[in-house]
Amino acid sequence: MAYEKITELFIGGERVGSSSGEIRNVLHPADGHLVAIFHEGSASDTVAAIDAARSAFDSGHWRSFSGEQRGKILEQVADILERDKARFAEAESADTAKRIIEANYDMDDIISVFRYFATRATLSHEREVTTGRENIRSTMVSEPVGVIAMITPWNYPLLQASWKIAPALAAGCTFVIKPSELTPSTTSMLMDVLSEAGVPAGVANLVLGSGAVAGGPLSTHPGVDMVSFTGSLATGKRLMVNAAETIKRVALELGGKNPNIIFADADLDAAIDNALTAVFLHSGQVCSAGARLLVERKIHNQVVTEIARRADQIRLGGSHDLDAETGALISAAHRDKVERYVADAISEGAVLRAGGKRPEGEKYANGFFYRPTVLDECTSEMSCVQDESFGPVVTVEVFDTEEEAIKLGNDTIFGLAGAVWTNDADKAQRVARQLRHGTIWINDYHPYVAQAEWGGFKQSGIGRELGEAGFAEYLEHKHIWQNQKPARSDWFKATEGHENV
Ligand code: NAP
Repeated sequence: MAYEKITELFIGGERVGSSSGEIRNVLHPADGHLVAIFHEGSASDTVAAIDAARSAFDSGHWRSFSGEQRGKILEQVADILERDKARFAEAESADTAKRIIEANYDMDDIISVFRYFATRATLSHEREVTTGRENIRSTMVSEPVGVIAMITPWNYPLLQASWKIAPALAAGCTFVIKPSELTPSTTSMLMDVLSEAGVPAGVANLVLGSGAVAGGPLSTHPGVDMVSFTGSLATGKRLMVNAAETIKRVALELGGKNPNIIFADADLDAAIDNALTAVFLHSGQVCSAGARLLVERKIHNQVVTEIARRADQIRLGGSHDLDAETGALISAAHRDKVERYVADAISEGAVLRAGGKRPEGEKYANGFFYRPTVLDECTSEMSCVQDESFGPVVTVEVFDTEEEAIKLGNDTIFGLAGAVWTNDADKAQRVARQLRHGTIWINDYHPYVAQAEWGGFKQSGIGRELGEAGFAEYLEHKHIWQNQKPARSDWFKATEGHENV
């Protein structure tokens, strides 16, 4: 097990202890057992990691690799992850309390992300520009942005890391990554995989520790060119303010309050079943969770009754509990937050139809479990409809018309994802195109592919991950203008007798 040793930071191609000498225990959220021990980094460790990434970038060595060479290394990373999949899934499951089956699915996605960007790395990024002028060669070339500071959350630790690391390496950037202090295991393990695959020393660096301490320099240090962050809106805002001081690029993947819209003409069996997966997968700790259910009034009773009945049947348990369908929340503090959210919703007038409590029984005593919760009779003025709970809680609202469904679906500061359920294909397209969210599923929920961009409208973020645009985040664009027949411009005439006039 990982805790037989205390895992160190990874800087300049080597494992190094933290300057503070402090350590942090990582505990399994479902039962509290010790799963790993890590060195706790300080701000000076982070500065050392940034310096290492800066030197590796400025040396030009990694940038001098051809796209094909970088692509081969990323393919190799994917192959090693395939080989070590079980070990990675085990560690991810232990840190996050997700069931092992979910951690295995995550690994498949992660491997496909490395394979996708391996291919992207090999594509040419040069473009000849037609200027309409004689003897001019005008070329657009793309170059790596530089040193990337990556900051990731605890819900999909390695998945979120792979969405940043794979395109950054494909583009020729170097990086420092700080995973959440709660879930550092798999990101740390990935550093060894990158070395094994041939990523040169100093290109990939890992700092560990809290956001407040170890994370500090990532958004302020002048040696960082870009901050790529996935996490909460509050932290994203703070990082953006910090980054402004040195005009760093920022890419932000923030929260969501995602409408899941069910029209009366939908396949209700599929819609109801998927509404449960939409919100209760990974106990709702999913940025794109369908936590805001919008139901056409004439089917409201039928839908909410069935969803509440099914929510009450969801079985909770630990990573290896074969009977369990979902797991624990990440921490006691997070469960407290979800409990407060539900209590506030009820005090605002929401009607509790399922859950709203911790499960009873010895099996749950040492874990941060919370029952899947259904809040009915909600309206868009309520804070439970506007705020992200990031837990297993769905709010239910009703609508009467297509226009109202669209209006409610857009009535949020967020714009990450949403879904439409209807058997009318034209209506589905009309609604999908008017919802201001980065991903819209029609008669489905949750799937994504590495080839398609992911990201948010409005306060759900800036920029995109995955796809072509997710790669472009890590590229600078340079215009090279070459005059192949130099000549005088004669703008200034150099007229005799006009000196110093
Ligand atoms: P968070 O509290 O913002 O933390 C995210 C990361 O930022 C953690 O690694 C945290 O470190 C670090 N951090 C905090 N303050 C920092 C600072 N001042 N400087 C540098 N780093 C700092 O978010 P979370 O609670 O972990 O994650 C949940 C949120 O992420 C939700 O809002 C969810 O919607 C969002 N999310 C969005 C997406 C997406 O694709 N849009 C995907 C997943 C999650 P420590 O935790 O170690 O202190």
